[in-house]
Amino acid sequence: MFIIRTNMRTVPVEEKRQKNEILPVKRQKGEKMNGKEYVESVIETVKAKNPSQAEFHQAVEEVLNTLVPVLDKEPKYMKHKILERITEPERQVLFRVTWEDDNGELHVNRGMRIEFNSAIGPYKGGLRFHPTVNIGIIKFLGFEQIFKNALTGLPMGGGKGGSDFDPHGKSDAEIRRFTENFMMELYRHIGPDTDVPAGDIGVGGREIGYLFGTYKKIVDRFEGVLTGKGLNWGGSLIRPEATGYGATYYLMEMLKSKGTDLKGKRVAISGSGNVAQFAAEKVTQLGGRVVTFSDSRGSMYLPDGLNDDIWKAVYETKAIKHGKLQEVAEKFNLPWYAGKKAWEVAAKEGQVDVAFPSATQNEIDLNDAKLLTNAGVMAVVEGANMPSTLDAIHHFMDNGVLFGPAKAANAGGVAVSGLEMSQNSMRLAWTREEVDQKLQQIMVNIYNTGAKYAEKYGDPGDLLMGSNIGGFVKVADAMIDQGNY
Ligand code: NDP
Repeated sequence: MFIIRTNMRTVPVEEKRQKNEILPVKRQKGEKMNGKEYVESVIETVKAKNPSQAEFHQAVEEVLNTLVPVLDKEPKYMKHKILERITEPERQVLFRVTWEDDNGELHVNRGMRIEFNSAIGPYKGGLRFHPTVNIGIIKFLGFEQIFKNALTGLPMGGGKGGSDFDPHGKSDAEIRRFTENFMMELYRHIGPDTDVPAGDIGVGGREIGYLFGTYKKIVDRFEGVLTGKGLNWGGSLIRPEATGYGATYYLMEMLKSKGTDLKGKRVAISGSGNVAQFAAEKVTQLGGRVVTFSDSRGSMYLPDGLNDDIWKAVYETKAIKHGKLQEVAEKFNLPWYAGKKAWEVAAKEGQVDVAFPSATQNEIDLNDAKLLTNAGVMAVVEGANMPSTLDAIHHFMDNGVLFGPAKAANAGGVAVSGLEMSQNSMRLAWTREEVDQKLQQIMVNIYNTGAKYAEKYGDPGDLLMGSNIGGFVKVADAMIDQGNY
């Protein structure tokens, strides 16, 4: 019998499914489920229908558990089976990508695109190239993207895609051959009014360039089918900076709610890629002291904070040369901790005021959360997607730490992608100041939406609950308006 473990219990799922006991929960005739029971039954069904997709389960649990108050108040969401529908992607595309390396050897990878929800606009979300990519990870990212995109206030649905291709150590020619073959299949599923991918881990300006060139060659049209494009061929100013800058603007709103700002604050950043680089730049501009960067090999400590020379070296080493962070540490004689996370290093070296995870999912577990609270952390702002485990989040909240959830805090990237789509449609380009000003306004609005719904549903300051509800009601109401598809 097929057994799935959920919440420490062993559930004989197949047996339950055969008996049709999973959904709906058995009740007396006419008796209605309350919000909590509805959420529990849908989570159980999601786990049963999507076994071995731990990250997807985690994302669904995180969102659904915070929706209970709105489900209790608004029975229409249960009546229209919104939770069952919103946790099931509208379309999932899986495909083979065969490519040739520089020695003429063939390799086979798996490509995928999850078109999760188009209730408020075309599917929108990045592509991730990383060896850990699987359907569960892309589904968690696509699911989060639905609510994040809704929070931006722009008309974008949720989607995500990628491949288990590992770009580390590949030549430019290998990257190009892989991306060409990836797009040979993806092109038929995307379009400027259908699905508009962007970058994510392992997909930066170089990859977007190759992907766009291949798409254009196949369809023979120059159109805004991808965002994160180069500036002289349809890209938007501030797009590379947008996620890191936006998360920092969001952090400023969090700190403002406690009557403080970034001046003199010690900020531990993880990662050294796109999000980490521009978060570090903006934090430094606003008076914060960045104390760490990291990559998949270890962490670097910055005893005197960040300066222009170190920032440029990190940017060139990671964004241009696709190299190792350790080389930057050696060049500037900075302490390097092989295999250590940024949190361990920052907490060992002194006080940590702000944690700014900007690498990958589940990079802050309960142990890390305890290290951070012991080091005095007052705010956690999620630059990466789902970087904190559920028990780490609970630990932060129980200890009065301000918590800025990913789907709100890191929405600046997709927001400026939305602005890139608008500029492409209008065939004009806004100035750097115009885009930055719109980004700042969007991040303030996202913060206010989360704060407003947290207050409305009885837990002021709970930005996780407030942001989830804010994103959810917008999408759910659109789904109801558009009928039961
Ligand atoms: P990049 O590929 O530019 O950088 C990723 C960074 O994280 C690198 O330093 C990488 O190290 C490190 N990293 C990746 N995977 C792991 C791992 N398993 N363990 C330890 N370190 C790891 O990606 P981005 O900066 O674009 O993305 C970072 C996070 O932000 C992701 O969660 C992404 O989904 C999220 N995000 C990104 C947005 C964007 O606009 N780019 C928008 C919203 C969210 P190494 O170089 O050694 O691989």
